[in-house]
Amino acid sequence: MTQPLAIRVRNALAQVANPKTGRNIVAEGLVQGLTTNDDGKVRFALEVAGGAEDADAAGADALLAAAKNAALAVDGVSAVSAVATAHSAGAAPAPAGGHDNPLGMRKKPQIEQAAEAMAGVKQVIAIASGKGGVGKSTLAVNLAVALAAAGYKTGLLDADIYGPSLPTLFGLKDQATVRDGKIIPVEAHGVRAMSIGMLVDPDQALAWRGPMVMGALKQLMSDVDWGTLDVMLIDTPPGTGDTHLSLIQSNRLAGAVIVSTPQEMALADVRRGVALFRKTETPILGVIENMAWLETPDGERHYVFGKGGAARVAQELDAPFLGAVPLYPELRQASDAGTPLAGGDHPAAKTFAQIADKIIAAIQGATGSTAE
Ligand code: ADP
Repeated sequence: MTQPLAIRVRNALAQVANPKTGRNIVAEGLVQGLTTNDDGKVRFALEVAGGAEDADAAGADALLAAAKNAALAVDGVSAVSAVATAHSAGAAPAPAGGHDNPLGMRKKPQIEQAAEAMAGVKQVIAIASGKGGVGKSTLAVNLAVALAAAGYKTGLLDADIYGPSLPTLFGLKDQATVRDGKIIPVEAHGVRAMSIGMLVDPDQALAWRGPMVMGALKQLMSDVDWGTLDVMLIDTPPGTGDTHLSLIQSNRLAGAVIVSTPQEMALADVRRGVALFRKTETPILGVIENMAWLETPDGERHYVFGKGGAARVAQELDAPFLGAVPLYPELRQASDAGTPLAGGDHPAAKTFAQIADKIIAAIQGATGSTAE
């Protein structure tokens, strides 16, 4: 799977730090009007100075050179044309002759500004599913625990506004706390976690429409003190709706992981979800098949929902297949009890660890960087 050039260039630029702040130039919103064309030509503007009083011209030149070099080093880039702009009022003028590109040349959406508060979070991954009840939240929680157990500083943002499940799955009874005006995430099972269910009454959220969904997501991104994290998983509502569009607009997604059961109906929804992410140049990190089979005590496998459907669809969609999670009655029981199986002795823990490894490998493939 080759990622779109614009995404790879953006990710390369995100490795460049502004020496004045120590933050990366993409997260700071300094890269404007990024475009690529089919010949591998890259253009962008870099907002290097705050105004006339900022006379650090040498520093600005050095930062521009570093950004150019980072873009030039990306596989498939033939030439880089970058200019420094001196003020931050609005977006840079559109470079002439560029390929159309959703990543630049527009006023920064509010959600993107909110997401900048998560500058300490290296990789953000959406966990999505075509429909509800396929085990998306169960997998999001267990994969987060598996990533933490593998040594990655991991966060879990439960953005499933219509059915927040984190408080149950993680056994969280506490309400969110606030320090210095910021919401402090809860630490559980080695994971820094926050759920929309801890901020609002879930019954009210059921009636929410687009702008309110976006508002809640903004709050979960910018008002929560996420600190530094290697990877953050975002549990999204089933299907594709306002939450997904907002996340895509936030310009922070390293990619999406899709959860499906083997059933054909779930798979049709998966195809729709994949199409949305593809259309917006969000990398599909892979497909996980959940409830793949039920094993009897004598080791016989029963393919309750059909056999290997998700693996086939992954292949058909040219998306990596990340693995299959069997039906484990203990997984449901543990989920209800708020004690994830990941990181423990149950065979499911090994499955989750393997899938977590593959997700890390997929991010490295998609962004050319590590989560470490
Ligand atoms: P979704 O987030 O897709 O709506 P959930 O994660 O809430 O789905 O899972 C739905 C139900 O299925 C829950 O009761 C959960 O415990 C159970 N479940 C999910 N995956 C498995 C599995 N592999 N084995 C057994 N039960 C599972």
